[in-house]
Amino acid sequence: MVKKIIITIDGWSSCGKSTLAKQLAKELGYLYVDSGAMYRAITLFFLRNHIDWTDKKEVKKALKDINLAFIFNPKTQLSEIYLNDENVEYVIRDLVIAEKVSDVAAIKGVREFAVAQQKKMGAKKGIVMDGRDIGTVVFPKAELKIFMTADSAVRVQRRFKEFFEKNPNVTIEEVKNNLEMRDYIDSNRKVSPLRKAEDALLLDNTQLTQTQQFQKAMEWVNQKITKI
Ligand code: C5P
Repeated sequence: MVKKIIITIDGWSSCGKSTLAKQLAKELGYLYVDSGAMYRAITLFFLRNHIDWTDKKEVKKALKDINLAFIFNPKTQLSEIYLNDENVEYVIRDLVIAEKVSDVAAIKGVREFAVAQQKKMGAKKGIVMDGRDIGTVVFPKAELKIFMTADSAVRVQRRFKEFFEKNPNVTIEEVKNNLEMRDYIDSNRKVSPLRKAEDALLLDNTQLTQTQQFQKAMEWVNQKITKI
């Protein structure tokens, strides 16, 4: 029997982490977990319930009322995130959430809450998880760690295209500002800042098609699987 491994994909906002993670999970029959969705769902809860997230006690209390779950949707063939039994997979992609999520994700208590659940999900291996601290904090012993990057102009264009299809009123400046702000906060926060794990393999996909990046990642997967 082929041994299952843990694959972590970290990197800057909008450089195609989830696209690659989903392709790998499908090919390998692994579970795919979008850790960013958890921080986005927590942010949605805080906004809806007017939680003052600068107040530690209020955050602690609010987290007790949050139940997150990933449930497989046979139609999309993907696991979608549920916040207290409500499917929030689509609402959390809104720019309103993107504007606040990095502030919420920088809170120690919030990270402890999310990371504890993420670690449990990987207990049986056979998982691809993407995020910002997966190779450094969540699964520091993962067999394959990928750190993704791409030119910022390319990332802005990709994310803009995605937003524009849903909302033609969005401007490229709004998208650019949001990506720059999130990358800044994510890489400068005190707790678990975004950084490349020393043993992570760098994947710059500025000049790569999705097929090429998938092939590159699968080469790495196969090298790791034959070694164990
Ligand atoms: O991956 P995504 O862009 O959906 O993540 C949204 C935000 O969640 C990031 O900008 C970051 O602030 C936070 N995040 C994090 N750690 C992770 C995943 C996401 O801090 N592992």
